[in-house]
Amino acid sequence: MNAFDVVIVGGGLVGQAIAAALTTDHNGPRVALVDPAEIQPPPAIGSIQDYDLRVSALTARSQDFLTRIGAWNRIPADRLSPYRGMHVWDAEGTGSVTFDAADMHAPELGHIVENRETVYALSQALAGRELTRLQDTVASFTDPDENGRLSVTLGSGDTLTTRLIIGADGALSGVRQFAGIPTREWDYDHHAIVATVECEQPLQATAWQRFRPQGPLALLPLHSNPHLASIVWSTSPDEAAAMLALDDDAFCEALGQAFEYRLGKILASSARASFPLRQRHARNYYSHGVVLAGDAAHTIHPLAGQGVNLGFKDAEVLAEEILRAYRMGLSPGEDAVLARYQRRRQGDNLATMATMEGFKRLFAADQPLVRLLRNEGMRIFDRVMPLKKQAMIKAMGL
Ligand SMILES: Cc1cc2nc3c(=O)[nH]c(=O)nc-3n(C[C@H](O)[C@H](O)[C@H](O)COP(=O)(O)OP(=O)(O)OC[C@H]3O[C@@H](n4cnc5c(N)ncnc54)[C@H](O)[C@@H]3O)c2cc1C
Repeated sequence: MNAFDVVIVGGGLVGQAIAAALTTDHNGPRVALVDPAEIQPPPAIGSIQDYDLRVSALTARSQDFLTRIGAWNRIPADRLSPYRGMHVWDAEGTGSVTFDAADMHAPELGHIVENRETVYALSQALAGRELTRLQDTVASFTDPDENGRLSVTLGSGDTLTTRLIIGADGALSGVRQFAGIPTREWDYDHHAIVATVECEQPLQATAWQRFRPQGPLALLPLHSNPHLASIVWSTSPDEAAAMLALDDDAFCEALGQAFEYRLGKILASSARASFPLRQRHARNYYSHGVVLAGDAAHTIHPLAGQGVNLGFKDAEVLAEEILRAYRMGLSPGEDAVLARYQRRRQGDNLATMATMEGFKRLFAADQPLVRLLRNEGMRIFDRVMPLKKQAMIKAMGL
C-alpha cells in the first residue's frame, strides 16, 4: 500500500519528532518517513573521539515535548549533560552576565545532548509505531490533483501518494526548492568550528561563552567527564580555515588563548569540523499541499542554541494541527490547516532570529562608544534579577 495521509521527508531531529508526535495514538493518520540515512546506535565512549561533534542545548520545553512523544527517557542518563549555570562575557571589556538555575528554582537551565543520541532515541520511540519508514530520498512530487492527492517519486523510482508532504529535510531542503518556496537569506560571514576538548579545570555544569569581535566561542559541559567540553567556535571563514589546519597541540593552544584560559589549558582535542553559518527563513511555510518545518523553514546563528528548539516547537504545533484536521475529517494538506500552523510558528521563529541577529551585530561592533555601552549594559543586566529571569524564561523555552 503506497497511499498515505502524510509523507515526512527527512528523518533528522525534527522529521522524526513530527512522526513521533503524529503516531503516539493508534488510529491516527497514515504516515511515511523518508530518509536515506541508516540510523545506528551511538558508539560507547572509549575516548574523546567518540562523542558526536554536533550537540544541541535542549531547553526544558524541548525536554517536555520529547518526553511526551516517548524519546527523552530513551537517552542514556550519562549522555544527558545538565547545565545549571551559564556565564557569558565580552572579550572587549569587563562586562559579563551569569545565569543560575537556582534563581529560577529549577534543577537546571537545560541539557547538552549529542544530536545522534537524540536522533537514535527518537528512532527507538518510533520502533513498533504505525509508521512506514523508507530508506530512500524524495526526488520529485506533483501538485495536488482534484482529490487533493500529491504523487511523490522516490530516488529508487518507487511512487507514493499523499495528502501532505512535510519538508523536514534540513537547511538545504530539496522539498522547499522543488515546491518553489522562496527564502530570505544572508551569510553571517561566520563558520562554526565544532570539536570535543579536554580542559584543565572542570566546567562545573556551566555553559561558557566568550563574545569575541570575530564571533562567539562556547564551551558546553559534557556530563560523563566534568573536564570535557563540546565547543562551538564561531569565527571568520579565514580564521576557521586557519584553525582547522593546525595540529592538535597548536589548536589546543589557540583555543585556550581565544578562551582567555578561563578553564585553564586545553589539554586535548578530538578531530575538528566546521559549518558555514547562514541565516535563512522561508517566506511562506506552505504551498500546495507542502509544508516546511525545522531547518528547512529557518536556520539561525547557534549563539544562543535555539535552532532545533525552534524546530521542536514547529514539530509540536504542526502535529497538533494535522491531528486536529484529521479528527475533523479535513485533509491535512488543506491551506486552512497549514495557515494555522504558519500563524502559530512564524512570529516566534522571526522574533528569535531577529534577537540572534541583534546579538551578533552588537558584539561584532568595535566602535568605542558601542563597546562601552555594551559592557555597561551587561553589568546592569547582571544585577537586575527580573530582567535576567525574563531572559532565562526565554532561554529555557518556558
Ligand atoms: C554548529 C552548530 C551548533 C548548533 N547548536 C545548537 C544548539 O545548541 N541548540 C539548538 O537548538 N540548535 C543548534 N543548532 C541547530 C540544529 O543543529 C539544527 O536546527 C537541527 O539539526 C535541524 O534539524 P532538522 O531535523 O530540521 O534538519 P537536519 O538535522 O539537517 O535533518 C535533515 C534530514 O533530512 C534528510 N534529507 C535531506 N534531503 C532529503 C531527501 N531529498 N529525501 C529524504 N531525506 C532527506 C537528511 O538525511 C537528514 O536526516 C546548531 C547548529 C550548528 C550548525
